[in-house]
Amino acid sequence: VAQLMQPQNEVLAAIETGGTKILARLVDGSGATLAEDRWATGDAADAADVLTAFVGASIPRGARLGGVGLAAFGPLVLDPLSPDCGLMLKTPKPGWTGSNLRAELSRRLDAPVTVQSDVNAAAIAEQRLGAGRGHRSVAYVTVGTGIGAGLCVDGRPFCGAMHPELGHIPVPRLPGDVSPSACPFHTDCVTGLASGPALRRRLGAHSALQDDPQTQALAAAYLGDLAATVMLAWSPQLIVWGGGVMATKGLLEQVRRACAARIGEMGVAPESASRAFHASAAFAHAGLEGALLLAHDVSAQVSKGRSACAASGARR
Ligand code: ZN
Repeated sequence: VAQLMQPQNEVLAAIETGGTKILARLVDGSGATLAEDRWATGDAADAADVLTAFVGASIPRGARLGGVGLAAFGPLVLDPLSPDCGLMLKTPKPGWTGSNLRAELSRRLDAPVTVQSDVNAAAIAEQRLGAGRGHRSVAYVTVGTGIGAGLCVDGRPFCGAMHPELGHIPVPRLPGDVSPSACPFHTDCVTGLASGPALRRRLGAHSALQDDPQTQALAAAYLGDLAATVMLAWSPQLIVWGGGVMATKGLLEQVRRACAARIGEMGVAPESASRAFHASAAFAHAGLEGALLLAHDVSAQVSKGRSACAASGARR
């Protein structure tokens, strides 16, 4: 019989690594939080140190770590069958290129660690438990320090050779927009033109996005292009928006209109033409919630494997 609850002496850890901060939570078998902490993002070696110390200090006496879910910024190798699963590819973040936090934590914590892109993990949380509940296919788009998009279909994330990197799709520049790109790789991608750092550069030091309607309209146009691409490529039943920039008053509605304008008169699923197609995230830290679901899944898989081994041993 499959075990639905964690065994009482087993705890789970969820981790989200972001461009500016790292979040971690440890929960017991009933899902209750035992400890939660956050740190400024340093390099990969720092992250392994603080996370190992956090788990070591928070785990109750007699309990064992059943699984760890890691929701991570990328670009990452995510193929679970690859010996490089968890490997960080070329990134401008100092001290991360070539690191493998998944493998390092698995070794140090002696527990199964499963990794997903931060936005795929967020999509999992929003589809299973959040704003996307009741929809089979949910895309999650974050607009903050970076821009990223993930997809969850029937509880499972969408990956190919890697994970989607829709934050780097090229978007046509609006007439007169000559602001330099904030992306180190591209001159005209949506991250370069509409991420938090790109918008800060446009605003100058003392202005917020809602105080500058022109810049907000420009951001909405570029994000509308991204939304149209998500819709055309994945055809999700819902797009959930998260990240600090999307908290700007009125922005979601402007993005919805820009997306509809970009799609034009083309025939689309009726739900994607509705106002409710674009929703705000239910979770403040959807990536961390997704990481917890992943930790639960990997722990259940491992104990299922263990009981299958025990059963086959008993038959012999
Ligand atoms: Zn880019």
